Amino acid sequence: MLTSTHTGNSAPPAQKTDAAMPILIDEVTGLPNRVGFVQKLAAMIDGLHQQNQQNQANKTLPPETLAVFFISIEDFQDFIDVLDHALAEKLLASVAQRLVALGGEAAVTARLVGGEFAMVKQGLNGSEDESVFAESIIRSFQLHPVNLEMLFELDLPLSIGIARAPDHGGEPLHLMHNTNLALSKARKNRGRPIHFFDSSLKERALRQGMIQLELRNALDNNELRAYYQPKISLKTGKIMGMETLMRWEHPSYGMIPPNDFIPTAERTGLIAPMTEWIMQQACRDTKAWIDAGYGKDLRVAINLSTIHFRRQSVIGNITTALENSGIDPNNVEIEITEGLLLHEDEIVNATFSWLRDIGIHVAVDDFGIGYSSLSYLQRFPLNCLKIDTSFIRNLHESKVDAAITRGVIDLAHSIDIEVVAEGVELEFHRQFLIECGCDIGQGYLWSKPLSAESFTKMLAKGGVLPP
Ligand code: C2E
Ligand code: CA
Ligand code: CA
Repeated sequence: MLTSTHTGNSAPPAQKTDAAMPILIDEVTGLPNRVGFVQKLAAMIDGLHQQNQQNQANKTLPPETLAVFFISIEDFQDFIDVLDHALAEKLLASVAQRLVALGGEAAVTARLVGGEFAMVKQGLNGSEDESVFAESIIRSFQLHPVNLEMLFELDLPLSIGIARAPDHGGEPLHLMHNTNLALSKARKNRGRPIHFFDSSLKERALRQGMIQLELRNALDNNELRAYYQPKISLKTGKIMGMETLMRWEHPSYGMIPPNDFIPTAERTGLIAPMTEWIMQQACRDTKAWIDAGYGKDLRVAINLSTIHFRRQSVIGNITTALENSGIDPNNVEIEITEGLLLHEDEIVNATFSWLRDIGIHVAVDDFGIGYSSLSYLQRFPLNCLKIDTSFIRNLHESKVDAAITRGVIDLAHSIDIEVVAEGVELEFHRQFLIECGCDIGQGYLWSKPLSAESFTKMLAKGGVLPP
């Protein structure tokens, strides 16, 4: 055990009133606050260091470790919204008490901010022990909901990030930063809401930081690429069009997929110039393919972010792309997601009317995953629904997904909307979709997204894809 200098949660230091002294205690819970936790953690790390030096000198015991847990009440804001202020404080105090009891004597528990707590615990032997301990915390809150003055029984979902000293940091702020990275990962993974820090998280965070800093240059340095994935007519087996998918060819990181940078682009507003660029590129490439005789009805689909569509009229961007390339609007389709259609919005309505008037197709992407209200099908002039990959992927083993897919195809056809199935990977899926009367397929069964050069070769072979 450590010859620790910490005092645990049992005896918090008496708070001084001196204005120059930092406040170390959280008023709501009586636990150390963030500053208090940093101090306690620093003392415990010092103790750990001394103990390990002694152990090493005596060659007696294996090195000790300290485990740091960040424990977060998920959707804390939702709880705050339904509880009044006093009850919310009682909730936090009650969670704090429970955590202190679960931590036992060898732990220090603190409240960091909002619904986030921290705990540092000694005496756990490596990740198996740490994992069992974190699971026991989650289970305790699942089995015994927090009872608030007999009014509410709250079943609190928790996420826990874990890092360890000295392996993941020998200095409090560094260790806490790494624990926080692990917590962020745990939050994204509701099925298993416990995550250990590992160096790949750090690499990911660094890469994310790099993306934020360098995305601005990607456009200027000509590092964005338009890739094309064929869409196949299930009636003829021929390429009837393609979806444009953005890539970033980074000089040191190689090809970066859009899911890694589009969210940053949306947050920073860069999505507007980036979309403008890809629209121009896609319209120019498609016009060249049409002019080369690869099909006068070839249709190019371009993804438009909701945030971009709402924030400003995209009419100007589209007009420029059409004029510069000379492409017929009938050869162009835009893909939007359901979220855009849920609320009345003047800009959105006006843009839809304009798109319909000039003949650009509109497809609803990722159909089926987001919302249950289908009333928007009546309100907007839509041409196409793209059934989301998550339904298509399991067609061969899920009766429910098969029934939903068949139902969506029937529904869409009854109101003259065509249907694309995306993420088609198996021959079985293709057969099933043909049998259901689905119009178009897209997926690795035919081809991954390709550079313009490779896509040209595919068209040159006759635009007929196996199988
Ligand atoms: P999305 O619009 O749903 O695009 C389909 C994604 O599924 C693409 O991923 C595609 O490569 C992938 N995919 C296609 N066939 C299969 C298959 O058979 N199996 C599997 N597992 N996946 C398949 P990608 O290219 O990584 O794009 C991801 C997302 O990034 C897109 O999802 C879209 O939301 C966004 N995105 C891509 N390009 C743009 C763009 O230019 N603008 C905007 N706003 N978003 C874009
Ligand atoms: Ca899409
Ligand atoms: Ca999609």
